Amino acid sequence: EKETPHQKDQIKTSFSKTKMEANLEVLRESFKNGRTRSFEWRKNQLGCLIQFIHDKENVIFEALYQDLGKHPVEIFRDEVGIVLKSANNARCSLHKWMAPKKKSVPLLFFPARGEVLSEPFGLVLIISSWNFPLSLALDPLIGAISAGNTAVIKPSEYTPVFSSFLAATIPLYFDNKAIKVVEGGADVTEQLLQHKWDKIFFTGSPKVGRIVMSAAAKHLTPVTLELGGKCPAIFDYSSVHSNMKVAAKRIVGGKWGLCAGQACIGIDYVLVEDKFASELIESLKRILKKFYGENSKNSTSIARIVNEKNVERISNLLRDPKVAASIVHGGSIDKEKLFIEPTILLNPPIDADIMTEEIFGPLLPIITLNKIEESIEFINARPKPLALYAFTGDETLKKRILSETSSGSVTFNDTVIQFVCDSLPFGGVGQSGFGSYHGKYSFDTFSHEKAVMQRSFLIELDPRYPPWNDFKLKF
Ligand code: NAD
Repeated sequence: EKETPHQKDQIKTSFSKTKMEANLEVLRESFKNGRTRSFEWRKNQLGCLIQFIHDKENVIFEALYQDLGKHPVEIFRDEVGIVLKSANNARCSLHKWMAPKKKSVPLLFFPARGEVLSEPFGLVLIISSWNFPLSLALDPLIGAISAGNTAVIKPSEYTPVFSSFLAATIPLYFDNKAIKVVEGGADVTEQLLQHKWDKIFFTGSPKVGRIVMSAAAKHLTPVTLELGGKCPAIFDYSSVHSNMKVAAKRIVGGKWGLCAGQACIGIDYVLVEDKFASELIESLKRILKKFYGENSKNSTSIARIVNEKNVERISNLLRDPKVAASIVHGGSIDKEKLFIEPTILLNPPIDADIMTEEIFGPLLPIITLNKIEESIEFINARPKPLALYAFTGDETLKKRILSETSSGSVTFNDTVIQFVCDSLPFGGVGQSGFGSYHGKYSFDTFSHEKAVMQRSFLIELDPRYPPWNDFKLKF
């Protein structure tokens, strides 16, 4: 008897589900038998990661060029260099991170000892995004390994060359019974989410973040959500104009210099006082020319848009005639070459998609205000951003920004560099996510902090036990 197409699909799904479950069972077993817990295993696997990057640096450059048109210098700065730094830091700090932390306990319990023991969760799922395919997959993995977990990485299907390179190469370097790559798109992620995980670390959009969190709720699995949103930059011209050239470079770098604006911490829009907008725009144009030449389309220093779907999505943000009319620089689009020119817009309508949705591309709206202090209200009227940038030398304004707004991070007088500081937690708040990682925070994110109390039999205080009486109340 012939199978119907529907039956065939069902058989295929249940077969791959069983295969996936069998693969996961190998990882669960490795965790259960203690394979990943020792200091030696963790250090060794971090060493394998470092070796993998060193050996494959050129292949990584090529894959990310093919997927995103990124220049090797940009890839080294944002991915290879960052992951090597994280892995080396984790390897050097591992002993200290793993050590139980002594804690004081109330004298009442004397003699007793308290400590906090960092224990691995078990089997963790890392779902990553496509804009920084190497660092968004391997930086969390460094945390997962350091903390002694087994892990599955699900890279983004939008960077297929890198994804298949990772799937083919990870098994050659890492412990196959503990670390695996599963390739695929939303359907595969949906399947993965049906399994039981001990922790899920997700990088992506708030929309899919909700799907991940609902799936995790079924098993009460803890999640870290590294999401996106609109990151504002406040430009207080009067207090920084003497450093205009440097400030403009940092804005251009923080917008177009990061994967052509396809970055969660890239500037989404700039807030500036009315009277200084044209000065700011002229400075940005000068720097754009300096960085990318007369015709940025010929530049190899700016990444390409990841795929046609995203070129379309970004183009649609410009489709509204009122938005198109607000373009003051750039605006050309070459769908075939996956290129969108660095584009500046002055005061597009606040209720247009470009100002309500995350841009995640090379368009920069400049929004003008009467007084720069109004930027606080403007930001607070929108979801909490992942990063907030403010160019200002005004200490009162700085204090107000810190105390009156909420965001994953605040960086004064620069952009993006907070991402590289392992001493600072990297993560969002509200709609930009929750939980954090980088440096020691990565280790903590993939660990459960177990409270341990050691007590002796020497002293026993009877008033803690019934029967209750007035004497015990006074005690
Ligand atoms: P996305 O949410 O579409 O995809 C992220 C991952 O989820 C991918 O691996 C994808 O395969 C999977 N996925 C997509 N749809 C799914 C579904 N319906 N069910 C289950 N899984 C699904 O995001 P993206 O396009 O990869 O990245 C863009 C977003 O990610 C932006 O919002 C950006 O700000 C954010 N981002 C955040 C960070 C950060 O560190 N906070 C870093 C990079 C990107």
